[in-house]
Amino acid sequence: MVTASLFNMMFIIYYILLKMKLFINGGFSMSRYQTSCLCGKVQCSFTLPAAAVVQCHCEHCRRMQGSDYSTWVAVNADQFSIDAGAEHIRDYHFNDRSSKSFCSCCGTSVFGVNGKHFAHHKVLPLGVVKNYSSELKPMVQVYTEDKAEWVHLHEDVPIYNPEK
Ligand SMILES: [Zn+2]
Ligand SMILES: [Zn+2]
Repeated sequence: MVTASLFNMMFIIYYILLKMKLFINGGFSMSRYQTSCLCGKVQCSFTLPAAAVVQCHCEHCRRMQGSDYSTWVAVNADQFSIDAGAEHIRDYHFNDRSSKSFCSCCGTSVFGVNGKHFAHHKVLPLGVVKNYSSELKPMVQVYTEDKAEWVHLHEDVPIYNPEK
């Protein structure tokens, strides 16, 4: 009898700890990331897991972001929402499957669609994220052969140079 109840108690403690672990892990990856354009009118948010967090050195990304490289996160479209300022968003379609959406007031790139690699996703430049965390660290560095010579690559992040 004593053995049985002790066993039950241990099982309950084990079960609670297991649930807590699941809750902590689940809660962590379910944190919602908020984004804002420069003027603050367009606000979006998204959750992880990300399909990819990519640091890209291609000419295309550089021009699109007006920077010497671009880091962006791709999340499934149903993990993304426009929370404010939808009326200010304009789209630029640079081919039949990819687009960049930007704030018409301040010009910030707020999200995009990369139909070639992420057909069912939204792609967000990390620069618009308000609450960074290490979960958003790049998973891969791509088109590094095109990078600006003063940009240093991360030693601990894989490099991938796809065929163009
Ligand atoms: Zn804006
Ligand atoms: Zn690129």
